[in-house]
Amino acid sequence: MSPRLPLFEDETVRSWLERLTAYHGPSSVEDLCRQLGINHEGLRHGERDDILRLSDITGESPALIRRNLISTTVKGDLRLGPHVLTAVLRPATDRRVCADCLKEDASCGPPTFYLRERWEWQLATSQKCNRHDRELTRIDPEDEHWREGFVQPKASRKKTIDTAPEDSRFHDWLRQELKQRSKAGWSADMSLPDAVDAAGVIGVTIGLGSNERWQDLDFARKRDALNLGHDLVCRDREALRPALLAQVERNGTSFGRGRNHGSPLGMLWSWMRHRRELAPSDPLTNMFFAILT
Ligand SMILES: [Zn+2]
Repeated sequence: MSPRLPLFEDETVRSWLERLTAYHGPSSVEDLCRQLGINHEGLRHGERDDILRLSDITGESPALIRRNLISTTVKGDLRLGPHVLTAVLRPATDRRVCADCLKEDASCGPPTFYLRERWEWQLATSQKCNRHDRELTRIDPEDEHWREGFVQPKASRKKTIDTAPEDSRFHDWLRQELKQRSKAGWSADMSLPDAVDAAGVIGVTIGLGSNERWQDLDFARKRDALNLGHDLVCRDREALRPALLAQVERNGTSFGRGRNHGSPLGMLWSWMRHRRELAPSDPLTNMFFAILT
């Protein structure tokens, strides 16, 4: 599943799933789980198979998922990782966050993708945030969109956009391109994050021939990757095929051998497989598979 939103060391699995849901587009965490073939109920009970499946799909360590998962035992006791901590954990109906920590998260990017709930806030003993000495704020545990309540006010949000004009220009341009192209059936079902993701992954793997995750690149290289990817994907569809085949040739037989993250094509292959699971009718995915299989 790409882009890979990592599960942070200090983050609850619930928070991470909410962020994945926001990024990849399903309407709820339950819906995301359904699409990925994960039993949401099983995950709530810490079922091993569902943790492994989630790990397999996201590329996240199963040990970290297990450790940060707050689950319920058959008897109804609460568990953090393998430890039953009913007396120490807040009930699932009492969810709290530190507004200052979230403000810091928001400086990294869109709130729905970056604001994360720390599991230590779920400890009954935590009244305040250890870092900010600030009283924790209650949020509605049923509301998966609670992050929106912590969005910066409009004035400062505009300022953030102003500081990255090239980034936002690129997005505008890409949106426009895709709008035009989609009339020809190209990328018709892609959301903007998906389209940026597609351009980025293809740009970095085929365009730059790198096995780095494109979202980890610095701004200049990220822009290069996005531009190259955009050229390959949108501007000149015909360019994608020879570029792809040239990469396959360069990499010998490594393409498609499972999830070989050691090579750019392995990265791409893994990304395409997950994309096909999430969007089976996506023309981009189908074209890739037509060329390569
Ligand atoms: Zn804090």
